[in-house]
Amino acid sequence: MKISQLGEFGLIDALKKFAPSSKAVIKGIGDDAAVLPFSKSEYLLFTTDMLAEGTHFTRRMSPQLIGHKALACNISDIAAMGGYPTFAVVSIGIPKNLPVRFVEEMYKGIQLLAQSFNVSIVGGDTIKTDKIIINIALLGLVEKKFLVTREGARPDDWVFVTGPLGNSLKSGRHLNFLPRLAQARFLVEKFKPSAMMDISDGLAGDLNHILKASQVGARLDYTSIPRNKGVGLSQALNDGEDFELLFTLAPIKARSLMDWQVRQELFYFYPIGTITANVKEKIDSKSFAHF
Ligand code: ADP
Ligand code: MG
Repeated sequence: MKISQLGEFGLIDALKKFAPSSKAVIKGIGDDAAVLPFSKSEYLLFTTDMLAEGTHFTRRMSPQLIGHKALACNISDIAAMGGYPTFAVVSIGIPKNLPVRFVEEMYKGIQLLAQSFNVSIVGGDTIKTDKIIINIALLGLVEKKFLVTREGARPDDWVFVTGPLGNSLKSGRHLNFLPRLAQARFLVEKFKPSAMMDISDGLAGDLNHILKASQVGARLDYTSIPRNKGVGLSQALNDGEDFELLFTLAPIKARSLMDWQVRQELFYFYPIGTITANVKEKIDSKSFAHF
């Protein structure tokens, strides 16, 4: 069978059986970051993301933004678990004709974001390749009581997103977005979502990951999904690379979040639907293709 027939998630599932995992692992493959033992009160979080020239970026794009994105999507995954980022290693594959300046600028993008999110770069690896590759692995910590996975959504919970979706690629937002760390930390400290993830593959597909992991269904109010300017519903559901957070909240907490947010302007969280007990109620994104 060809990899194209399996799809990304089919392949990851197939590879899972070759991935040994000890009893010490609290959560391995399948969430935004792995959850590992650390201390009495905290878990260690571990995540990695890779960007490749031709697939995620071209040489005509700003190298600073490429570096920025490589770290930002990792920070976004740590935030999605309710944690905060700490230490990273950066590995790069560099074609021999690439100007040194390009790599320095890429690192500048990483450095600026790392500084503002309190991340230390503590190592990496450098190899010669035909196309530019950048891979960052990031550690983080989360207080045990604040850990949020994809598994905890319950019937009647409300579904929220942290911001408007769609058209991330064309608008350039996929490169310059800021990870929603402050929103995630605010949520776990004050409201404790039942499930959370970041939207990297599109709202529809990503919500289906939460539904599968939590063994529930969902009903969306499609008119209330916040969209970026000029974006149709199908794009908001499917474009991906939004890096907004998608989370669920028990009804009592959801109502108190709604009360809280009429009184302030710090963040806004958009309610877009509810969780149901019917596992067959998946988000059928394709039926919106005509929008
Ligand atoms: P995200 O978009 O949140 O970064 P992905 O969709 O890339 O997550 O991956 C889904 C899950 O599969 C994650 O838990 C990730 O660690 C795991 N995963 C992805 N690729 C591999 C791989 N080649 N080997 C093992 N685990 C993988
Ligand atoms: Mg993620």
